[in-house]
Amino acid sequence: MHYYHDIFEEFPQGMKAVVSAIVKNDHLFSEAVGKDEFGILLDKTMFYGECGGQIADKGCIKTNNGFFYVRDVQIFNKYVLHIGNMESGNISVGDSVFLHIYEDHRLGCMKNHTATHILNGCLRKIYDNVRQEGSRVSPHKFSFDFSTTSQMKQEDLTTLQDNVQQIINSGLIVCRGLQPLDQALQISNIITMANEEYPSHVYTVSIGRGPSEFSTELCGGTHVTNTKDIESFCITSASMSPLGIKRMTCLSGTQAKQAIENGFILEKYLQEFEAMIKSEAQTDTWLDRVKHINKVLKDEAIPKTVHDDIRLRVDRLGDSMKAVLNTIKKEKLRQEIFELLENTSSACCTVTTELVLTPQVIQQVLLEVNSSRPVAVVSTRDKNLSIVVCLNENIELDDGFEAELKSVDSDVKLKKKVKKNCTFLIITLKRKALEKSVAICNKLQSVLS
Ligand SMILES: [Zn+2]
Repeated sequence: MHYYHDIFEEFPQGMKAVVSAIVKNDHLFSEAVGKDEFGILLDKTMFYGECGGQIADKGCIKTNNGFFYVRDVQIFNKYVLHIGNMESGNISVGDSVFLHIYEDHRLGCMKNHTATHILNGCLRKIYDNVRQEGSRVSPHKFSFDFSTTSQMKQEDLTTLQDNVQQIINSGLIVCRGLQPLDQALQISNIITMANEEYPSHVYTVSIGRGPSEFSTELCGGTHVTNTKDIESFCITSASMSPLGIKRMTCLSGTQAKQAIENGFILEKYLQEFEAMIKSEAQTDTWLDRVKHINKVLKDEAIPKTVHDDIRLRVDRLGDSMKAVLNTIKKEKLRQEIFELLENTSSACCTVTTELVLTPQVIQQVLLEVNSSRPVAVVSTRDKNLSIVVCLNENIELDDGFEAELKSVDSDVKLKKKVKKNCTFLIITLKRKALEKSVAICNKLQSVLS
């Protein structure tokens, strides 16, 4: 019996094979049936078993009366184990079967694997002593680990992305070869993996031929035949700490196009929002807009360069947004106070507001209102409920006053400030205890009347 794993088959449409053995929990079986997980060995296969950082193919093994779903393929010595379960019927040793691999899964891996090689080559062009430390290639994304003695900068990501895209657009032929290891190691600029042990004969993957050769790596993975097949590329995350191993996570093909589109849509949304803030329009939607941007940044794949730029701009918008929103909130509070002063005759007017305002901002408003009667503003949405009282005279507080407040709530804190002939009492409660604030305001009424 000879098992082989021809990884350099052209993209296979299907293949016939014969079942050589069936394994379950380290025991041999003559037949796979039922829901249990089995491993199937074949006389030959075109399935790619997980190796070299690329995850295995998925697919199925079929007979006239059996359908076996292959969810993983692992290589043990030279044996290729197709791991999965029967979806229907049964498969026995000696059966002639038909193999089918899931094309989208394989094609995704092919695009991402060739893109890994291009990224590897491009990194070598801008950094010194690049060493590949590992990679993980799946149909939807790939990650690339490496070390370098160079200092990496944020703006390098744009250069890298452009360089990789340029190689993709150049339509370079991707060639595969098999040769003795010592011969392969003679190839100038051959890229090998750090700490990897290679067999006596190795596969090489070259991108570009002759004078336009871009790179040659020792590699047994599956690849596209032309760099144009990769279509698109972007980097979605990059850890670039000066020490240790760096990692880039990237997308190619449809996923990269989608991420670039996501970034484009968000960029447009932010531009509109920036204009809105500039003209102070639709202020009531601002907080929701910021929430939306943050959610998209968190949940959707977006090129890291765009992601970082948008993050920075949103953070910068924070200050101007706060200033505008504060002005609006101050105006609202002013109106609330005026309305109350008109409609109540009590010695101390108490306004309870939903607006989130700091005691400092409330004091500014009270100064502007300049009421002849004492005004107390209870800010209920503050983390520590606060009551700011403004008196238009400089009053002396005896110790009894604070003691009376503390009899309502022992956690009450009282501060007194004098500004522009007004006395401010800033009373803070640790919790949002609205009923206590009512009790305190009643106490104020009796003290001030
Ligand atoms: Zn490779």
